[in-house]
Amino acid sequence: MKDIVVKKLKERGASIEEMAELVFELQKDYLDITMDEAIQNVKGVLDKREVQNAILTGLELDRLAEEGLIEEPLLSIIQNDKSLYGIDEVLALSITNVYGSIGFTNFGYLDKIKIGIIGKVDKLGKTTDQVHTFLDDLISGIVAAACARIAHSHGDN
Ligand code: MG
Repeated sequence: MKDIVVKKLKERGASIEEMAELVFELQKDYLDITMDEAIQNVKGVLDKREVQNAILTGLELDRLAEEGLIEEPLLSIIQNDKSLYGIDEVLALSITNVYGSIGFTNFGYLDKIKIGIIGKVDKLGKTTDQVHTFLDDLISGIVAAACARIAHSHGDN
């Protein structure tokens, strides 16, 4: 199951390495962390069944919307990433929820600054026929959860 999730994320434009780079960037000023540790923590997040379920659901909705296989009015809402929709964020929060309130705070921050791979897929979604309405939030959720996972493993300081 995890292999399928990793493969689908990659197909949709997000590799473990790119997500780990964000984790590393966000944590390096606070913790003594290596890129390998960032990768291991992204993988650790992807081990969770709740996380896998959220990813599979979101990626499939993006794909169906991209291929025009969802009925209106939902099709246009997802295709145009309408800001009042919000279900993409709610779904992604089910990823961070596994790691408590730290994950939630990280997610809000990432969703705003849209750095690295998050900004990349967000831009592609807005400038091409690709639909990344769920993908950008799923990536934010995975990265936020990996950061929270690291924070937990390093203790409070
Ligand atoms: Mg979104």
